[in-house]
Amino acid sequence: MRILIVDDSPHHRNMMVYELNKLGCSTVTAGNGAEAIEATAHERFDVVMADIRLADMTGLELCWHLRTRQGLRHLYLIIMIPGSMTDQYHELVEAGADEFLRKPLDWKWASARLLAASRVVAMQRELERLATTDPLTGALNRRRFLERGAEEMTRSSRYERPLSLLMLDIDHFKRVNDTHGHATGDEAIRMTVRVCKSVLRGPDLIGRLGGEEFAVLLPETSPVNAYAAGQRLRERLAAASLPLEGGGALALTISIGLAWLTRADTSLEALMARADAALYRAKKAGRNRVEIEPQLPLSSLRGSTCPTLP
Ligand code: GH3
Ligand code: MG
Ligand code: MG
Repeated sequence: MRILIVDDSPHHRNMMVYELNKLGCSTVTAGNGAEAIEATAHERFDVVMADIRLADMTGLELCWHLRTRQGLRHLYLIIMIPGSMTDQYHELVEAGADEFLRKPLDWKWASARLLAASRVVAMQRELERLATTDPLTGALNRRRFLERGAEEMTRSSRYERPLSLLMLDIDHFKRVNDTHGHATGDEAIRMTVRVCKSVLRGPDLIGRLGGEEFAVLLPETSPVNAYAAGQRLRERLAAASLPLEGGGALALTISIGLAWLTRADTSLEALMARADAALYRAKKAGRNRVEIEPQLPLSSLRGSTCPTLP
């Protein structure tokens, strides 16, 4: 587990790092509430262990701040209270605390409570995975793709960075199901995502939007590079083949629509609508191709890294 330790005293912090490392936990330390809030903005922790008395805020206030900022993943909050404290328990839980430990810490007791916390953390991770990924392919599900996509879009707009979007749809997929059965259809959907993942880079997001429709968001990618990525995806999938049970192999192609962020865009939906329009044209024009929206000559994309193309 990754644990954030929040305590004013360097001596206490060092002692906790030592003991928690012995238990196999990795640790980061913060000397006050503001540092703790800053740390959680940049990194995800499983557990926060915070002293109830900090120089800049109370443990109650810290709980409240961390809870309101935690996003989808539940942070397990442990508040360390002085042995003399005999009330305020209810208020602490109301503010968001999951557990109290009395100071000075009894490490036999603390390690047992951390073991219990690790079960909650593991369950939370599993719930998060189930809620955000598509079970057939492991791609992001529609809801999560839209959430992550909106975050990327806000970041790209704020820092004026390029951002491109590909919409993909398998060609003549009904025929695959009708000819080879639904199970083979499912395998073909899996293979499509596998091929996409093998072509894409770490920060790229792939989401399964519906049956055999996918969206790929390419941060820091200019239209010309996104076009090249789309062509690579299309070629790799056309070159791959799915072995069939009765012998032979199934060949698949995809059509792709490309759009990119402009200064006029205020929502991810606008970008998706343009990529969809391009995808529609790719289907109309014969499938197994990449089309762009707005419909510009390809030469006008070349050399452009600017997100403000018309
Ligand atoms: P087009 O080239 O125009 O896209 O033709 P298409 O036949 O692929 O048409 P469309 O994209 O509308 O087809 C979607 C089909 O995908 C319909 C549905 O039977 C099938 N499908 C949707 N979800 C799944 C799934 O989870 N598994 C399987 N095997 N098939 C699915
Ligand atoms: Mg299709
Ligand atoms: Mg479709």
